Amino acid sequence: AGRLAGKIAVCTAAGQGIGRRVAEVFLSEGATVHASDLDASKLAGLDAFGTVHVAGLDVTDAAAVAAYAASLPVPNIVFNCAGYVHHGTILACDDKDWDFSFDLNVKAMHRLIKGVLPRMLENGGGSIVNMASAASSLKAAPNRYVYGASKAAVLGLTKSIAVDFVGRGIRCNAICPGTIESPSLQQRIETLGEQVGGRDKAEEMFISRQPMGRLGRPDEIAMLALYLASDESSFTTGTLQLIDGGWSL
Ligand code: NAD
Repeated sequence: AGRLAGKIAVCTAAGQGIGRRVAEVFLSEGATVHASDLDASKLAGLDAFGTVHVAGLDVTDAAAVAAYAASLPVPNIVFNCAGYVHHGTILACDDKDWDFSFDLNVKAMHRLIKGVLPRMLENGGGSIVNMASAASSLKAAPNRYVYGASKAAVLGLTKSIAVDFVGRGIRCNAICPGTIESPSLQQRIETLGEQVGGRDKAEEMFISRQPMGRLGRPDEIAMLALYLASDESSFTTGTLQLIDGGWSL
């Protein structure tokens, strides 16, 4: 039996990048996974890994999240992965940018957790895993003004839920990655390449800030998500787990 045998897991933004790999690993370890993404077509192929239920879901749509949460069986695991990287300092961040980043990166977690938590409590508890970032209150990264602020808020949200429900079987932890290979990172490298004179140079700039001399892999994040989701981490709650190849040292 897998490490998540018999568990029901909910994963947002499971179409690509870290969320995709986490959904694959949860499935491979025996969980029944309810995988969603803004773009449902990206969820194709997950069924090769196990028992999956896929759905298109925009986590910024409050009514859609509430309906989705109500439609689910009671989850044992909730993995909140959806997030967006806004580039720039405060000078490049207007109210619309601020609101969008907080809506997608923070409030979406609030919505989904609120939708499933009452039934999880009735069920005796469960594990909630929230995707934050090393770029948060733990570390600053240049030109990540509202991204860092929103991911810091994820850490506060995570600890608040952990403390409020620690006596009722709920654990809530946050994952704080450094720079991880993903489709959106490739996009960021292309964009930076246009400014600095070449894609290779841009990639080198991302890698040069990594003490290990390489980027992280989605699989490395998925292994931590698996641990936090499983009963192996049963004494762990309210933690902010750095997984950044030494970036923040
Ligand atoms: P990504 O950015 O490449 O993919 C994100 C996925 O989210 C896509 O499949 C997209 O369709 C989906 N999505 C976008 N808006 C959505 C919405 N409104 N509702 C539902 N789904 C939506 O993936 P990634 O880079 O692996 O990032 C995943 C998470 O990990 C994010 O929260 C990100 O902030 C965090 N993170 C990533 C890195 C990194 O270097 N890649 C580092 C630290 C934290």
